[in-house]
Amino acid sequence: MPIASPSRTFAPLNPPQRLLLGPGPSDVHPRVLAAMTLPLLGHLDPAFVAMMDETKEMLRYVFQTKNPMTLALPGTGSSGMESAFVNLIEPGDSVLICVVGYFGERMVDMTERLGAKVHVIEKPYGEAFDPSEVRDAVKKHAPKVVGIVHAETSSGVLQPLEEIVKIVHEAGALIVVDAVTSLGCVPVMTDEWGLDVVFSCTQKGLSCPPGMAPISFSPKAVETIHARKTKVPNWYLDVSLLSKYWGSDRAYHHTAPISMAYALREGLSLVIEETLEARFARHVRNQKALKAGLQALGLTYVAAEGFQVPAVHAVRIPDGIDDLTIRKRLLNDMGIEIGGGLGSLKGKAWRIGLMGQGSKERNVLLLLGALEVCLRDAGCSLKPGAALEAAGAAYAG
Ligand SMILES: *Cc1c(COP(=O)(O)O)cnc(C)c1O
Repeated sequence: MPIASPSRTFAPLNPPQRLLLGPGPSDVHPRVLAAMTLPLLGHLDPAFVAMMDETKEMLRYVFQTKNPMTLALPGTGSSGMESAFVNLIEPGDSVLICVVGYFGERMVDMTERLGAKVHVIEKPYGEAFDPSEVRDAVKKHAPKVVGIVHAETSSGVLQPLEEIVKIVHEAGALIVVDAVTSLGCVPVMTDEWGLDVVFSCTQKGLSCPPGMAPISFSPKAVETIHARKTKVPNWYLDVSLLSKYWGSDRAYHHTAPISMAYALREGLSLVIEETLEARFARHVRNQKALKAGLQALGLTYVAAEGFQVPAVHAVRIPDGIDDLTIRKRLLNDMGIEIGGGLGSLKGKAWRIGLMGQGSKERNVLLLLGALEVCLRDAGCSLKPGAALEAAGAAYAG
């Protein structure tokens, strides 16, 4: 028996208007959305290939690298993570993962599946590693690869990397860095710091829809991949095959997600128009104002002072306030999305994103006003206007 057609019809798609202030996806610039509606090209069309070259050039600027092997994978940020590890790791390799939150835990899960000897060092949510802790672990486990998250979206922690990369390299190991939430929001100095593999996504700091994963491999990482004794166990994410499509061979590998590639190209061109310097300064300015406002609402940060990432503000939910009641009110009544807690912070924290395009004064003030109304309705005794007053002072000062 064939399966019958559904008895109802489906109206043309009409999603509600939202302001995306969660931990991703972030709001998309109209120019990016417009680019996605442009006519398709074939994935080997010279015009598309020329656009891929533009994308590569722009990615090298955003990643601050000269690495020839810099491209964008078809897949979300997690495909970048998976690609970094499947290409570098062979069964039995010693791997060290430095976990400061949920996405570090994902690195552990991925590398264990590859038959590596995975060693884990861990910090409680909200803290970052001191370089000496990584030095001790590297001495003890002599890893081939060290994995670490730059901006841990679950806790809002920004992990300083420069010292740690030096330690990893002195021990002869390679460093894999998750820059999914940091790229386009805070400096990611791939060449200056010496990152061996660094990957990101399109839907956070670059303010495009989800669907691709920018990634860059250092010459040393490429050498390591060429020296493998075993085949990369995953065909789709094998960067040697992928680079034949992104390099001068232009050999068919997969059908590139054309409209997504348009979006990424347009999103990157917006970053270049703004410049990285201005973009980072804008993120810091809005971070300061949002932080002043949230603190005026009595909310405390999960991430330790001095280690807070401008793109994600993880704050503890006050005692007696129900997570979902507030988030539903924000979403349903005000059209604003913020994120809940992940991992050990589930139900205990909110995550507010000011990423890329979304990091702007209007969003900061709108969210603070809305959140204050929700908290007061839920019984918090707050001075009306306190959050906006604090944010306004931060902008003025
Ligand atoms: C969002 C995120 C990921 C996963 O990216 P997806 O695009 O959801 O696959 C990985 N690492 C960090 C730090 C993230 O914030």
